[in-house]
Amino acid sequence: MDFSTPPELEDLLHRASEFMEAEVYPLEATARQSFEEVLPAANEARERCKEAGLWAPQMPAEYGGMGLDFLPHAHMSETLGRSPMGHYVFGCQAPDAGNMEILHKFGTDQQKARWLRPLVAGEIRSCFSMTEPDRPGSNPTWMDTTAVRDGDDFVINGRKWFTTGGHLADVAIVMAVTNPDAAPHMRASQIIVPTDNPGFHHIRRLSIMGDVGYGWQSHSEVAYEDCRVPAENLLGQEGFGFLIAQERLGPGRIHHCMRWLGICERAFDLMCERSSQRMVAPDRPLGTQQVIQHWIAESRAEIDSARLMVYHAAWKIDREGTRAARNEISAIKFLVAGILQRVVDRAIQVHGGLGMTDDTPLAWFFRHERAARIYDGPDEVHKSALARSMLKKYGIELGSQGG
Ligand SMILES: Cc1cc2nc3c(=O)[nH]c(=O)nc-3n(C[C@H](O)[C@H](O)[C@H](O)COP(=O)(O)OP(=O)(O)OC[C@H]3O[C@@H](n4cnc5c(N)ncnc54)[C@H](O)[C@@H]3O)c2cc1C
Repeated sequence: MDFSTPPELEDLLHRASEFMEAEVYPLEATARQSFEEVLPAANEARERCKEAGLWAPQMPAEYGGMGLDFLPHAHMSETLGRSPMGHYVFGCQAPDAGNMEILHKFGTDQQKARWLRPLVAGEIRSCFSMTEPDRPGSNPTWMDTTAVRDGDDFVINGRKWFTTGGHLADVAIVMAVTNPDAAPHMRASQIIVPTDNPGFHHIRRLSIMGDVGYGWQSHSEVAYEDCRVPAENLLGQEGFGFLIAQERLGPGRIHHCMRWLGICERAFDLMCERSSQRMVAPDRPLGTQQVIQHWIAESRAEIDSARLMVYHAAWKIDREGTRAARNEISAIKFLVAGILQRVVDRAIQVHGGLGMTDDTPLAWFFRHERAARIYDGPDEVHKSALARSMLKKYGIELGSQGG
């Protein structure tokens, strides 16, 4: 593996960092109080991002993006992850970015014209409705939501929650069972539902650690009640919903991991700055305490080791595809999520009471990123998958639910 960054990518990351300094970090203080309030300024920054040629890094130029390959975009994700507003301002925020990818890969020309183009342009917002309150999200082959064929339509019924960005979204991509008698991973399909459909109901924004959020930065419970959409809204083939979801989540996990590394680096910088500036006695900075030095050293070593593992997983995906790299993807998903929690927690501890306030981004990261150990597969599911693959070589065959 070559760890050097090509000069053109260095230049791009430098430009992105400068844009972050000038346009994104200044939004943070307001965003921490209210995402709704920061939206007008954030949307103006988005326009300047487009003008600077830094918009939608992962999407092809023909759709209005930068057309970055997988690895350069992973690097960009780290740079943008340093701020909670980075991905939004650059037009590559979850869940829109993942939806853009699947619409691009599996959408018909008509679906691309109607949904993908305005999504990439930032003119509309989308959400992804897979997880249900009454079924385990960790086992997405088992769900209650159905889509029944009726003439030229599908009629969808079911309840979903944790539909990120469902509040005020224009379109949802919903996972629903279309083929109940097929093998478990071939039962569901993905269907595009415009949210102005009378059968789509936004029920509530979930309160996440005391914060209901707003718009893109919120997570909703939604219901589909006799929600009738034309069969042409099927994304990809019928019964392929789970496989499309896997396509979406594999590379998506690399981008999450790189974003988390960006958060780690920001928390690390804040921790070191505070250690050097906060005096515990006259002429005695906090960083002279051995325990603080150990936290800094442990954080540095953990972040750097995580980055090498993420690069390796990305390198393998690039060469051999997502399926071949699934062990590496499982390993980084739980490893980096854990390092993220520890580094942010240490940074908060170093800041003392200040760390608990919203005067720094640390408390925001702590609240919003605890979920990293849960979404896109909880830690335990990835650990079991990795162990299952390892034990297979030793003659132990385990099912996906263990046992
Ligand atoms: C902030 C946030 C954003 C999200 N965004 C979206 C979104 O946009 N769209 C969407 O569809 N979903 C989204 N989700 C849902 C997410 O994907 C699920 O929460 C996740 O898949 C876990 O499912 P669950 O909550 O039903 O937990 P469950 O499946 O009930 O699992 C609960 C716990 O049980 C344990 N567990 C589960 N299975 C196993 C196993 N096989 N072995 C050992 N232990 C196990 C784990 O500790 C797990 O945390 C989001 C979640 C969060 C927190």
